[in-house]
Amino acid sequence: MIDETDMQHLRRCVALAEEALEAGDEPFGSVLVGADGTVLAEDHNRVAGGDSTRHPEFALARWAAEHLTPEQRAAATVYTSGEHCPMCAAAHGWVGLGRIVYASSAAQFVGWLEEFGTPPPPVRPLPIREVVPGLEVEGPVPGLDQQVRELHRRKYAA
Ligand SMILES: [Zn+2]
Repeated sequence: MIDETDMQHLRRCVALAEEALEAGDEPFGSVLVGADGTVLAEDHNRVAGGDSTRHPEFALARWAAEHLTPEQRAAATVYTSGEHCPMCAAAHGWVGLGRIVYASSAAQFVGWLEEFGTPPPPVRPLPIREVVPGLEVEGPVPGLDQQVRELHRRKYAA
């Protein structure tokens, strides 16, 4: 169940994705929120420099591993503009983070790339739940997913 607080964090993720786009990067943004609602960390894609593993969800998982206890990680929520790729879902699972809420799904992203005539990513976009069973996962969110689509259209559609 996605409430207004979730929506606020998701809107921040979309804003971070737009920041990434405007910085010449791919439009993905994520926010890590503690059990008490505090925003602990946020990031956006940083792959433009040539390291394609620099996804925000991966950065947040590493931040959590360094700064949070296992209990704090399990109680934290990761919000993200686009569903985790398998690499980031695995990092999330290994670090033991909690709930994930995404604005748009990996399946939507792949469909949009196809629509824009852009080659698919080299890594298969498995749903998070196939990579990390038992996790609480919510999304996509109607309306916000279309805002994310528009960012991808600006990035990928020729
Ligand atoms: Zn990723």
